[in-house]
Amino acid sequence: MSRKLVVGNWKMNLTLDQSKDLIQELANNVPFHAYVVIAAPVAYLHPLKDFIVGKRNIHLAAQNVHHEEFGAFTGELSAPMLASLGIEYCIVGHSERRIHFKEKNEVLAQKVTQLLNHNITPIYCVGESLEQREKGKTFDVIKKQLKEGLFHLTSEQIEQVIIAYEPIWAIGTGKNATPEQAEEVHAFIRKYIANKYDEDVADEIPLLYGGSVTTQNAQSLFEKPSIDGGLVGGSSLKSEDFIQVIKANFP
Ligand code: PEP
Repeated sequence: MSRKLVVGNWKMNLTLDQSKDLIQELANNVPFHAYVVIAAPVAYLHPLKDFIVGKRNIHLAAQNVHHEEFGAFTGELSAPMLASLGIEYCIVGHSERRIHFKEKNEVLAQKVTQLLNHNITPIYCVGESLEQREKGKTFDVIKKQLKEGLFHLTSEQIEQVIIAYEPIWAIGTGKNATPEQAEEVHAFIRKYIANKYDEDVADEIPLLYGGSVTTQNAQSLFEKPSIDGGLVGGSSLKSEDFIQVIKANFP
């Protein structure tokens, strides 16, 4: 099966009407063989699930999930709740959650397990800060995030996960990793997973690049052999831009 996909992370943006308009534009304009996932604000997931019926290229993700199944956690949302809405994907460990909400690998590991228990595909984010990169610690940081967040899974489970490499210094900054920098980390991630599990398992896992993907740089990133697609923030909020980014991965 193809590992290619493009995920749009809308974060805390857009009204429901704007969301529907954008999805309609995508459905009308992206190629037949494209595979697009929209991480929409949680309040919109139910109405958008109805709205995408018949739009076969478009799928939905949540941006976060709680690590427990149910309970006294006011304001939170659990994996079985997402499953009951028919949501197929969920971002886990985005750097904005790691930084602003102090989410640690141990809790993220529980979120991943919760999602898999309810047949939702985790999109697990890893990535180093500028300081860590400059100190030559990129691979150590990624290794720890993978080991502590994912390596409790069986081979069958980890094959169901998508990994997004998102260097923190590239998110929302307009300064993307070069295709060579991203490819180097992606190739490292696949090898590290192959060493822990095996090559067949590592080959199943889509690896997305995220961090200031634009209409200008998408193609040069996506044509690298270890980059299967993108996790796209800012450029997923305008239909003209997002359509072009998607087409770069689905020519
Ligand atoms: C993101 O939010 O995951 C992201 C990569 O944002 P941006 O594309 O705006 O850098």
